Amino acid sequence: MGVRSTTHVAPQASDREFFGHPRGLVGLFFTEAWERFSYYGMRALLLYYMYDRVVDGGLGIPADTARSLVAVYGSATYMSAIAGGWISDRLLGDRRATLLGGVLIMCGHLCLALPAEATALFVAMVLLAAGTGLLKPTISSSVGDLYAKNDPRRDAGFSIYYMGISVGAVAAPLVVGTVGQTYDYHLGFGIAAVGMAVGLVVYLWTQRHLSAASDRPKNPLRLDGIPRERLATVVSAVVAVLLGVVFCATTGVLTTGGVVNLISFVAVALPIAYFVAMLRSSRTTEVERVRLRGYIPLFVAAVFFWVIQEQGATVIAQYAAESTDLDAFGFSIPASWFQSVGSFMLIVLTPLFALMWLRLDRSARPPATAHKFSVALVIAGLSYVLLVLPSAQDGQAHPLWLVGSLAVVTIGEMCLSPIGLSATARLAPAAFATQTMGLWLAAGAAGQGIAAQLVKFYDAESAAGYFAAVGIGTVALGLVLLAAAPLIRKRTDVPVEV
Ligand code: GLN
Repeated sequence: MGVRSTTHVAPQASDREFFGHPRGLVGLFFTEAWERFSYYGMRALLLYYMYDRVVDGGLGIPADTARSLVAVYGSATYMSAIAGGWISDRLLGDRRATLLGGVLIMCGHLCLALPAEATALFVAMVLLAAGTGLLKPTISSSVGDLYAKNDPRRDAGFSIYYMGISVGAVAAPLVVGTVGQTYDYHLGFGIAAVGMAVGLVVYLWTQRHLSAASDRPKNPLRLDGIPRERLATVVSAVVAVLLGVVFCATTGVLTTGGVVNLISFVAVALPIAYFVAMLRSSRTTEVERVRLRGYIPLFVAAVFFWVIQEQGATVIAQYAAESTDLDAFGFSIPASWFQSVGSFMLIVLTPLFALMWLRLDRSARPPATAHKFSVALVIAGLSYVLLVLPSAQDGQAHPLWLVGSLAVVTIGEMCLSPIGLSATARLAPAAFATQTMGLWLAAGAAGQGIAAQLVKFYDAESAAGYFAAVGIGTVALGLVLLAAAPLIRKRTDVPVEV
């Protein structure tokens, strides 16, 4: 079995060079901004590229299939984060895994830039899944490692880092989306590849400021301690899965619908299996187990939050293109621009939220993480309820309805996403540090896996019913979490020993 690494390099509380935060945060901020620029640029185009007619440069896939495909595409890119976390924790360490991930992501976008149509789509998905799986959890874990476990600056640090995500995400649809929709899809994807290349240069330049903990695996794998039979079983299982994938991909045994269902299933099954494995592992201590149990309902809440938020690139993208009056302001708004609204709001609101958390967290009755998550769920549900009205009326909706709905869901995101990253860094069992970060991202994968099934029920005619059902369901879930918050708090919001 592996042996837990015992050396620990404590981050310096005196390192306050970037707005009072460690200077390693600057490099991570900009690297992630560029990586997200490439990801969200690609995502702003993907649905339109898939369902646009072949003569217009698209793939001509029916819209309902395209919606599910975009959802599982996103799901696959986050699902691999658990594997990426394992590779980092046991083999490479965060810094090397981030670099390798960045290179793979760039190759994925380059692939889409080539006029290789459906083949490129598949190869790019594999490259993007592998790359994002390596980069996303490791870069977030490197942020956590800049702070000691009990450093009060960590929540704020993750909020600043999340701003980096939003800076990339706000620019991407405006640049990549506009170029792709106005000139050529492949050129748009090419710009996404350039964005990732810039991110890699920034990372190479700034990586020396990272914590020493990012440099080595947290729980290095020692092959000499593992029984041979076990090694043989693992290797055969991996080879069998790979052969199965290659077989299905080359023989067309799996239909598109089959792929969608399979990814949806794996996206939900994977985190369940991983929680069970972590709870059972002898490397998880008793205290860590209690915290992990408290973390599970938070995780489930996150899954359902992403079910709604991630539909921004599927149902909402289609609603923008088909059911919104894009000429309402006297010029034709590219539909992809709506995907910038959330991130723009996030940047504007982050300073306000930072102040609010500071006040609330220091108040006599500070809100628990579960309280913040339940507010996020209720708000996400309301963002859909808001769309019932314009969808129930005849004719196209004024764009401000959609802007309003996206702004509302973003308020929920501020209550959940940066808080979740920070809670994950705090509650992760030490031997599974980066893997738990991967698990957190797998909530996004499970959310999109579920969404891939839900979006099948959407069409422009019955949009009001769809928004009402999904919206009210999510509000109800938020209220259940609110009721359970005191129980969850006992397990998650206790001071962590250093
Ligand atoms: N919007 C965030 C990001 O891109 C989180 C997405 C997710 O976890 N689904 O990092």
